[in-house]
Amino acid sequence: MLIRNFIFWLSSKRGVTNAIARRGMKYGFARRFVAGETLAEALTASDELCRAGRHVSLNHLGENVTTEAAAREVCASYLEMTEQMHAKNLAGNISIKLTQLGLDLSKELCGALTLSIAKRAAELGRTIEMDMEGSVYTDATLDIFESTQRETGNCGLAIQAYLHRTEKDIQRLAPLRPKIRLVKGAYREPANIAVQGKPAVDANYRKLTTLLLEGATRGLYFPAIASHDPFMVTHAQSEAARLGLPKDKYELQMIYGIRRDLQQQARDAGNILQVYVPFGTDWCPYFMRRLSERPANCWFVLRSLVAESSS
Ligand SMILES: Cc1cc2nc3c(=O)[nH]c(=O)nc-3n(C[C@H](O)[C@H](O)[C@H](O)COP(=O)(O)OP(=O)(O)OC[C@H]3O[C@@H](n4cnc5c(N)ncnc54)[C@H](O)[C@@H]3O)c2cc1C
Repeated sequence: MLIRNFIFWLSSKRGVTNAIARRGMKYGFARRFVAGETLAEALTASDELCRAGRHVSLNHLGENVTTEAAAREVCASYLEMTEQMHAKNLAGNISIKLTQLGLDLSKELCGALTLSIAKRAAELGRTIEMDMEGSVYTDATLDIFESTQRETGNCGLAIQAYLHRTEKDIQRLAPLRPKIRLVKGAYREPANIAVQGKPAVDANYRKLTTLLLEGATRGLYFPAIASHDPFMVTHAQSEAARLGLPKDKYELQMIYGIRRDLQQQARDAGNILQVYVPFGTDWCPYFMRRLSERPANCWFVLRSLVAESSS
């Protein structure tokens, strides 16, 4: 936890993030977790994953835009990603972050841009997913998700197991028959909002996994169990088997470059596996979050830097 907080603190220091941003792509260590800086690179990585039997969800990195023009630019980039994925016949979808689409500026603007992306995806017979950000955005994200899904019917939403409110939110969403991506939660939230500590978060994650899988047997949800924790993955697989839920009625999700061994095991077990593929120039905050989740990743970065500077 100390190391995690230290990395969070480091990620707020511009000098550190600038230094990492300058070296990360050049020395290659960022490529372990980020598919590249351009859409073309991300599509190449996605193509390889799809050929290996994975689905992909493309995310253009970045959050919290501060102008309407920037939000519209991000919207255009997601439309382009959808068109290109369709043209290349890639299995999967795009994942959007609502603060990239102007949620801090205007809920109406963000809702309208989100709807335009979902509508175009629906015209192409494709889906979209929405990431869940910090808890100040949960209500607005749920509202926009609900109104968009009601209109287009092709949306999935990430839901965070660490929030106290999540079980009620899952029940609230059932009438929309959505895809729900269950994640543990990546932000720092206080005790009145989120359960604290890994054992408590894991216990909630297991409980909500069972709730979603049970719901899936009644056609209420398409559960996407998004975790690199082998215990969570095993729990989902054994609960699905206990409930008699076929493997095409739920999926596992993992992030590009993380626990590739577990990704292969999921495929070998016959599960649908969707890989979240982030790309873009604004990769540093995302990269720091991945480091904070597993301090051992820092050694991997340091080793790359030492190897490069001594060669
Ligand atoms: C597909 C996907 C989409 C996501 N979308 C969102 C979202 O929209 N909103 C949100 O708040 N969070 C999101 N997350 C992040 C999530 O909330 C967690 O922060 C993250 O997945 C770490 O939790 P975990 O369940 O993987 O396991 P943890 O309990 O963090 O770790 C368990 C084990 O998993 C492995 N592991 C975990 N992280 C790493 C890593 N970075 N590198 C190497 N090994 C690792 C290690 O073996 C570790 O011991 C997403 C995660 C995934 C997989």
